[in-house]
Amino acid sequence: MSDIIHLLPEHVANQIAAGEVVQRPASVVKELMENAIDAGATTIRLLVKDAGKTLIQVIDNGRGMSETDARMSFERHATSKITRTEDLFRIVTMGFRGEALASIAAVAQVEMMTRLPERELGTRLEVEGSKLRGIEPHACQAGTSVSVRNIFFNVPARRYFLKSDAIELRHMIDEFERVVLTHPEIEFSMSHNGTEVLNLPKSNLRQRIVHTFGNKYNEKLVPVEESTDIVTVTGFAGKPDASRKTRGEQFFFANGRFIRNAYLHHAVMNAYDQLLPPGHYPLYFLYLQLDPAFIDINIHPTKTEIKFQDERAIYAILNASVKRALGKFSISPSLDFDQEISIRVSPVSSAGPVVPPQIRVNPAYNPFHEQTRPSPAASSGWLDRKSTTEGWKELLSIDPGRTAVAASQPDAPPAALPREIVAMGQVFGRFVLCRWAEGILLLDQHRAHKRVLYEKLLGVLDGGKAASQQLLFPEVVELSAGDAALVAGMTGELQQLGFDLSALGPRSFQIAGIPAEAAGQSAGHLLEELLEQYQNGMASLKFSPRERLLWSLSRTMAIPYQRKLTPSEQTELAVQWVSCTSPQYAESGQRTFLNFTLEEIQALFS
Ligand code: ADP
Ligand code: MG
Repeated sequence: MSDIIHLLPEHVANQIAAGEVVQRPASVVKELMENAIDAGATTIRLLVKDAGKTLIQVIDNGRGMSETDARMSFERHATSKITRTEDLFRIVTMGFRGEALASIAAVAQVEMMTRLPERELGTRLEVEGSKLRGIEPHACQAGTSVSVRNIFFNVPARRYFLKSDAIELRHMIDEFERVVLTHPEIEFSMSHNGTEVLNLPKSNLRQRIVHTFGNKYNEKLVPVEESTDIVTVTGFAGKPDASRKTRGEQFFFANGRFIRNAYLHHAVMNAYDQLLPPGHYPLYFLYLQLDPAFIDINIHPTKTEIKFQDERAIYAILNASVKRALGKFSISPSLDFDQEISIRVSPVSSAGPVVPPQIRVNPAYNPFHEQTRPSPAASSGWLDRKSTTEGWKELLSIDPGRTAVAASQPDAPPAALPREIVAMGQVFGRFVLCRWAEGILLLDQHRAHKRVLYEKLLGVLDGGKAASQQLLFPEVVELSAGDAALVAGMTGELQQLGFDLSALGPRSFQIAGIPAEAAGQSAGHLLEELLEQYQNGMASLKFSPRERLLWSLSRTMAIPYQRKLTPSEQTELAVQWVSCTSPQYAESGQRTFLNFTLEEIQALFS
């Protein structure tokens, strides 16, 4: 037999490598901006068209490249930043793999213009799908401009799986923020489709945070500063009363590089122990500086995960420094502060873990009271399937993955179903106990309400009309650039769903009305929580953007656990739930109810 192993052609190898480095347009933003920083630029501009699908361009005034270097820079493993193995352990630049430009050029059409400051003429070159299309002398500014067009033009599957513009833009802004937060001494700007998204003058770190996230951040920040032999910690932690129910801005940087690290996050959260109401997150911008020999940034190509040699010590130091900063700068004495917190938490704790059942609802509350039960043969829909124990078992064993399907292909509306249902009380602060023809029912109040809201909102988007609650005093919310981009991208849907929303500026919105179901809630919190849910709440579930929006809003507005329900609220929930098209589950296959038939209960007694 002849030999069959051969080396892959360069462009194929590049494309494979590109799969790791270039996951989406945001990866290009990160790599190009980091190159500009490594080139010593003091001004960096990012221009984006169509959320990066059409164009991503980074222009810097850094040291530029010679013609030979410009050509070399697109080769794989071509870098000016390290030469020897030892260098890997003392990396001081953002890049070092020499993979980024080669990978980007493997999956896009790239144009580079670059000039060494001391030369009069620069170079212009074009690379497309790893092939050099042209290189020529060119009159241009000192520094480098790299334009990346039609990303994934030759990898249709990748292009197809890009998310909506709003989501891709959000990812790009995330990357942009991570870079600008490490270099307040550099001037940055970003524009999208010709509109300026952010313009950040050279400043100090505190101003940079404020410029990036909004003026209100200025009074939220407490400086953190701690220097030890192992690590220096600097930056800012958020005041406890600036915490939010949404995860918001939490940033770790190690040696100027954005990192994620759940263990260190825990160290910070632990420092806030007792200071935050349950379910609240602090904001933080924390910078660790340590000997590069003690960290290994080489474990992941996108380099947000790193290994520390002495993680425990760093945990302890970080924890102590945040605690100290909070203690030192807490304006109110800690006793008063505790009180303030406990007042805020009280709606939850005063409800108590067990709410005595509210006995028996007057059947007159039940709009379905007059209906008679149709014969099984005449009825249709999901209720029939479980009118026997067998049927119930089948229903209860439907696998969770089916929910999304159930949501997009609802069963035929149950026209004439046994909808007599009587709420008998609330138990454990989370279930509504009901009696109906099928037996005794425990309805999970939060999940059941989510399902009810989801179907209602779905009807609204499908052409129904949303009930909107107009606010007496319209609220103005200022969002981060990323959140603002997301809201701008779905303003139409939000309005349809009952938000009376208008843009006041690039990052501020006025809310004059909210969906009627959320009446009484703060409009700003509602929107912020919705954004949080939309982006982080259902990370693992595959939903279309529309379903994601609907479930996020339903989650945000649904009755929380421990909320006490009046008898009429209990009945209303039960009746609305039983009228749903697919009442069995909430979004991730979470069961909304448990039913006990007489036979089952008798069997338990035997
Ligand atoms: P890495 O950054 O890991 O070295 P890249 O593929 O991103 O790899 O870049 C390859 C090389 O091209 C860099 O090492 C650098 O010498 C050069 N280069 C890239 N971008 C720029 C830029 N904006 N200005 C100057 N030189 C650059
Ligand atoms: Mg690089």
